[in-house]
Amino acid sequence: MNTFCNKCGKELEQDNKFCKFCGQSVEKSNPVETRQEIENKEQFIEKYIGEIFVTIGIGTFFYNILNFSYRTYGKGGLSPKLPGIPELEGIAYYYKNDVLIMIALGAILATIGILIIKNRQK
Ligand SMILES: [Zn+2]
Repeated sequence: MNTFCNKCGKELEQDNKFCKFCGQSVEKSNPVETRQEIENKEQFIEKYIGEIFVTIGIGTFFYNILNFSYRTYGKGGLSPKLPGIPELEGIAYYYKNDVLIMIALGAILATIGILIIKNRQK
């Protein structure tokens, strides 16, 4: 099995205690991520951060649209259309505003994700 320098990433000859290219000491008992592995991880996060934003944004958007419809038109729960109970109407409006905020937040998250994906493709 070939080993590679932790610092410069060049291939090491066996039993060398120091890298002949950059002088980095070789610690075989304590394997460290190579530069290439670290770059791969960073690229993975960079690659999918846009998709993560879009997924969470769209999920939040549609979940709260369903929620909004239920609270506004459904028979159960705290509907603002319930007659004669002002306290419940107030609570219902509070929920309604929360749901509207979450719909907007979902749309913003999805938009940010799309912008990240578009920006990446340049
Ligand atoms: Zn080196």
